[in-house]
Amino acid sequence: MDKLREKLKEVFGFSQFRGNQEVVIRNVMEGKNTFVIMPTGAGKSLCYQLPALMKEGTAIVISPLIALMKNQVDQLNAFGVNARFLNSTLTKGEMTRVKKETLSGDIKLLYVAPESLTKEENIEFLKQAKISFAAVDEAHCISEWGHDFRPEYRRIKSILDAIGDLPLIALTATATPKVQLDIKKNLVMDDADVFISSFNRQNLYYEVRPKVHAKKQLIKFIKDHRHKSGIVYCLSRKKVEEIAEFLKVNDVKAAPYHAGLEPSVRVKNQDDFLNEEVEVIVATIAFGMGIDKPDVRFVIHYDTPKSLEGYYQETGRSGRDGLEGNCILFYRYKDVLKLEKFQKDKTVTERENAKLLLDEMSMYAESSVCRRKQLLHYFGEKYDESNCGKTMWCDVCKYPPETYEGKNHVVTVLEAVKQTDQRFGLKHTSDVIRGVENPHVKSYKHNRLPIFGNGKDDKEEFWSSVIRQTLLHHYLEKDLESIGVLKITRLGEEFLKHPKSITLVKDKDFESLIEKEDNEPHIVTKSYDEHLFDLLKKLRKDVARKKNLPPYVIFQDPSLEEMATVYPTTKEELAKINGVGMGKITKFGKPFLDLIQEYVDENDIITASDVVIKSAINKSKTKIFIIQQIDRKIDLQEIADAKGLTFSELIDEIENICYSGTKLNLDYYIENMLEPEKQEDAYDYFMNAPSDRISDALDELGEEEYDEEDLRLLRVKFLSDHAN
Ligand code: ADP
Ligand code: MG
Ligand code: ZN
Repeated sequence: MDKLREKLKEVFGFSQFRGNQEVVIRNVMEGKNTFVIMPTGAGKSLCYQLPALMKEGTAIVISPLIALMKNQVDQLNAFGVNARFLNSTLTKGEMTRVKKETLSGDIKLLYVAPESLTKEENIEFLKQAKISFAAVDEAHCISEWGHDFRPEYRRIKSILDAIGDLPLIALTATATPKVQLDIKKNLVMDDADVFISSFNRQNLYYEVRPKVHAKKQLIKFIKDHRHKSGIVYCLSRKKVEEIAEFLKVNDVKAAPYHAGLEPSVRVKNQDDFLNEEVEVIVATIAFGMGIDKPDVRFVIHYDTPKSLEGYYQETGRSGRDGLEGNCILFYRYKDVLKLEKFQKDKTVTERENAKLLLDEMSMYAESSVCRRKQLLHYFGEKYDESNCGKTMWCDVCKYPPETYEGKNHVVTVLEAVKQTDQRFGLKHTSDVIRGVENPHVKSYKHNRLPIFGNGKDDKEEFWSSVIRQTLLHHYLEKDLESIGVLKITRLGEEFLKHPKSITLVKDKDFESLIEKEDNEPHIVTKSYDEHLFDLLKKLRKDVARKKNLPPYVIFQDPSLEEMATVYPTTKEELAKINGVGMGKITKFGKPFLDLIQEYVDENDIITASDVVIKSAINKSKTKIFIIQQIDRKIDLQEIADAKGLTFSELIDEIENICYSGTKLNLDYYIENMLEPEKQEDAYDYFMNAPSDRISDALDELGEEEYDEEDLRLLRVKFLSDHAN
């Protein structure tokens, strides 16, 4: 034992082992099969590196990422340890040298990529070498239930067997009970001693937010955490680029990171983040593995992740120094559906696997059970506190949900599982409880069970939440062999015999929350300042009267509502409001800005200008093209054809251009479109009409005389003349 510690100090310079390291190392030294589950950054590498140094011969380390392999080997070499790697990046000469050194017994650790391990010539060579033991790092890659499945990992065991009878150590930072079982089965190490460290990261705060006005929420959060390091994860490269750009124009030091970038750019952005030239890195999940920045203060998932395992791993990158770490997830069910669609070209099994992982993800997000409890349960860890307790809190514990007495509900669930012989999953069980007569239920004659339809008054979401909570209370468990099948535990049997009071929580209805907020045209619900809105309306009326124009020409209602929400006091801020362009600001802006300024001063209002959101792209290419073509007096039909638009779609674009404040001169087109008298009549109409609705105009002016497109173009001319 003292020898181990001596070596630890001598080679690595550490004076103490951390956590489970010592017991694990001793187990490996004894030649036993060992299975290590330890969170990222806890120090798994040492668990095989130290025994490799102590034992005779060469240890094989199988590791999935060539880049990390080189890194580890470099580090070991720097400690004076003779380690090498064997992978496809080596030249023939280098390969020969590595093999020679291994055979002569000089190399203590040989890192091998799984692809290289499967090559016949390498197997032959390894057979001749003296191998001390084999380590399988990132062992979750063996399981298609993990978040990072590598098919070559499946062949590891048979190849190792061909090499010799080697003790194994498998290591991973993340493994659900299902994945643990897969690893053990695949590596044929049922006899292995398992060492699991707790995954509870006490300094991390978990929160799930409905994904509405996500950009606004994002910028607000980042501005509230100014000058702190953070990671924003997005699912696609395109999204990464978009969000990085969006943050940059909003004065956040941000940079993108994804596999599609030039390697030099990628490396630079990563270094800039590590050196704090960049504060926020916007990345796909390609970013983070092997990155060890201790003071990442937040990890935001802008898109819903594909699995809870991946999610937990990614959030784990915050607060490694033990201080604050905020983990915010923007969730909406639509994201989940999108992810399912991406799977459509995969095999049936792959699709089903992906779907189950996604189901877990959405249940986690939508549930009102303590996040920490759910996450730890997912990783097979018992968490007996009823909520976050002494740790940093989660959103659920911070804002406790509604609860209800669930005794009878839990009994119903357990009865349903029992009466269906413990052979079905969550969906079927809830169907039986709710009395759904679908073909599946009928084929098992489950519609004749006494429990059938007992819970018909409640929705599917409700019962799925009850079943989940029954699982979390350990009355039910998921069968590890047949995916998703629910079994009653001993505790559950007892509960059925003697039901007792149990408090369950009500889930929030996420989708309706999102819809409700999404339907509001501008920034959060009707939270605009109604008093200011009235004042603005009054001002608009006065201005309109003075200019002899209808009020809507000045600003439309949604624009006023937005002003009464964000209180713009400068021209730049005013220009951010929907429907307000520079043209309008020059013509009408001043009195409105004055009014708002006065109002803000009088009422001590903190303006929203610190949350002003600039959009990255003001005008799309199409819009610019249309403006240029109209400037050159090109026929509208030609413009539409050039862009592959229908005529009506072109008018949509023209209207958008006009409403956002750009003046368009359509006279050249309108002159040839209608006789002058008709033009005048319509023009007069718009001048005096109470609204600018086209249907009203058609009623008034007569459908025989005008068609809709003519009127829409005339309205654009009218607004361009007077408003822009
Ligand atoms: P993991 O593979 O579990 O994510 P690593 O093996 O890469 O973690 O180790 C993470 C960091 O912890 C490394 O910088 C390593 O040098 C350090 N470390 C490991 N063991 C110890 C120890 N006993 N004392 C101090 N630092 C350690
Ligand atoms: Mg590691
Ligand atoms: Zn909690």
